[in-house]
Amino acid sequence: MTTTVTLTGTGTPRPAPGRAGAGVLVQHHDESIQIDAGRATAMRLAEAGLACNRLDALFLTHHHSDHVIGVPDLLISRWVMGATEPLVVVAPDGPLTEFGGHVLDLWAEDLRIRQEHTGRAPMPAPAWRAFDATGRPTVVWEGRKVRVSSVLVQHQPVEPAVAYRVDTDAGTSVVVSGDTRVCDGVSQLAHGADVLVHEVVRPALLGKQRGYIGEYHAEAVALGALAAEARVARLVLTHLEPAPTTPEDEAAFEKDVREGGFTGEVVVGQDLSRVVIQ
Ligand SMILES: [Zn+2]
Ligand SMILES: [Zn+2]
Repeated sequence: MTTTVTLTGTGTPRPAPGRAGAGVLVQHHDESIQIDAGRATAMRLAEAGLACNRLDALFLTHHHSDHVIGVPDLLISRWVMGATEPLVVVAPDGPLTEFGGHVLDLWAEDLRIRQEHTGRAPMPAPAWRAFDATGRPTVVWEGRKVRVSSVLVQHQPVEPAVAYRVDTDAGTSVVVSGDTRVCDGVSQLAHGADVLVHEVVRPALLGKQRGYIGEYHAEAVALGALAAEARVARLVLTHLEPAPTTPEDEAAFEKDVREGGFTGEVVVGQDLSRVVIQ
């Protein structure tokens, strides 16, 4: 039974050609779960071959707009495509709980008129499952053949921010960092994982934004050291800052994580990059 990891967006708040907002699709057997929904997630899911009304659950890492701005689009699109059940949304309790309570407010009139016009059932509100984020890996959701755990990460001043680990009944495992500095939480969560999808930054190239971006994102060399220490098999780089635009830029990200000591497989992520775990 294979587990598939697809990057639905490798971008950051700053629009870059070809890079949608943050998101990772994890599929195992007949289950599909999405982690984060930045800009154009619904479109990338279609390009990845998954109708968004087939998603089983959505997990959110933190309330920065580049990770959640695609949530209303996803909710409305799946309803337009025929979903009648609420989408399960799992998120750490905090500002995201408030966000979830209002995520459809701006579209109330659109939803009303679409429903009246088509006669379809009213759009179900998302089934919001808030959990208390903790510093130790904790199971937050169980599906049919997958189990999802979470741990707090270090993305202050944004709190809470979490990473997720998906473990399957076939023994495969995928960890998604969300946004964080290189931190002990991810190190614990990722131990022995088949795939670690991690955000990354090369601060030296950031110019005057270096200060605030560098201070709450994961520096590439230190990330290589974390991946080596956690003994992950594959490191998939996403949320790349600055966004690579040439093969040389991509090679520089890989060079940095190698310098940190990681010797496993490295994927410098592009939108729709896919890793299949057998
Ligand atoms: Zn972000
Ligand atoms: Zn963030």
